[in-house]
Amino acid sequence: MTSLSQNAFKVSKNPGGFTVSFEVFPPLSDIGQTNLLQVARDLERFGPSFFSVTYGAGGGTQKRTLDTLQQITDETSHKLAGHLTCVGATKTQTDAVAQSYKAMGVKSIVALRGDKPKDQDKYIPHEGGYANATELVAGLKNIGGFDISVAAYPEIHPDSANRKADLDNLKAKFDAGADRAITQFFFDNQVYYDFLEATADHGITAPIVPGILLIHDFNNVKRFAKMCNTNVPEWLKARFEGLEDDPAGQQLVAVSTAVEQVLELASHGVRHFHFYTMNKSNLAIAVCRALGLNTRQTCAPSLETSVV
Ligand SMILES: Cc1cc2nc3c(=O)[nH]c(=O)nc-3n(C[C@H](O)[C@H](O)[C@H](O)COP(=O)(O)OP(=O)(O)OC[C@H]3O[C@@H](n4cnc5c(N)ncnc54)[C@H](O)[C@@H]3O)c2cc1C
Repeated sequence: MTSLSQNAFKVSKNPGGFTVSFEVFPPLSDIGQTNLLQVARDLERFGPSFFSVTYGAGGGTQKRTLDTLQQITDETSHKLAGHLTCVGATKTQTDAVAQSYKAMGVKSIVALRGDKPKDQDKYIPHEGGYANATELVAGLKNIGGFDISVAAYPEIHPDSANRKADLDNLKAKFDAGADRAITQFFFDNQVYYDFLEATADHGITAPIVPGILLIHDFNNVKRFAKMCNTNVPEWLKARFEGLEDDPAGQQLVAVSTAVEQVLELASHGVRHFHFYTMNKSNLAIAVCRALGLNTRQTCAPSLETSVV
């Protein structure tokens, strides 16, 4: 009798032909920075297409993105992507950040509008800044030499009037020159399949990569999902019910949930996955191994480095 994994993938390096990418955020502290570097090293073995670092509003966090990109560039072999938003900056200032990415060898950008400040009802573009992601993509194309990803919303962006307005906006980002979209996280795979169908009907042919949130803290996820318009299905709530004070139990459920989601997507032909890692490597490692990805069969990169 053959096992499911043998049936599905046979035993070889990356037999499913999967590619992955990982997303992290710039840490606030020195210890967070050290931990993140270890996460980057832990995930090197899966040979991601890119390793992306988010970008927040305001000068301080922008510097942290640049510093994080620089450190991971210096210490690992990852191909990096820098996120970039339009928030709080003129076009010239935003362009200067893109040029800094390029100067450090980061030629992939995840181009975003960014969120409105908490105390505002709606997003107000910065005077002299890019008004939205479409304008930012056009600005980056003008500079030239970037691979550009944009955001997509299977459950519709909270600012969108309806599905059509959302799809029009996504189409505009591709028409401006984006190479692919990465989705907001979702838990119900059918939502993603329906979205792919809707984008195809809308004339969108570029890749739309599923963004997979790895659940490290279910209460936080519920809060975040509400802000993002992501539905948290009842079956998922039931899985985590009663585990509030049981981190180990939560982790087991999180691993099985993520593996199940990813393998189901894989069975529908999905070959690239973007993981929201929350700056932790354990769940990402479990899922990548379940996909049959373990391109370096030796010990962790951090140990290899210390042997050299
Ligand atoms: C993969 C991914 C990565 C992300 N990374 C970051 C990050 O690093 N930093 C960060 O701050 N945030 C990040 N976000 C969140 C993102 O910034 C927010 O979702 C933001 O509210 C929208 O950004 P966008 O690029 O999708 O905006 P856009 O595509 O520009 O549009 C967002 C909404 O505004 C509407 N809209 C746009 N232009 C107009 C217009 N001219 N008139 C009327 N309506 C308009 C659109 O219909 C759409 O609903 C990320 C999201 C995803 C999915």
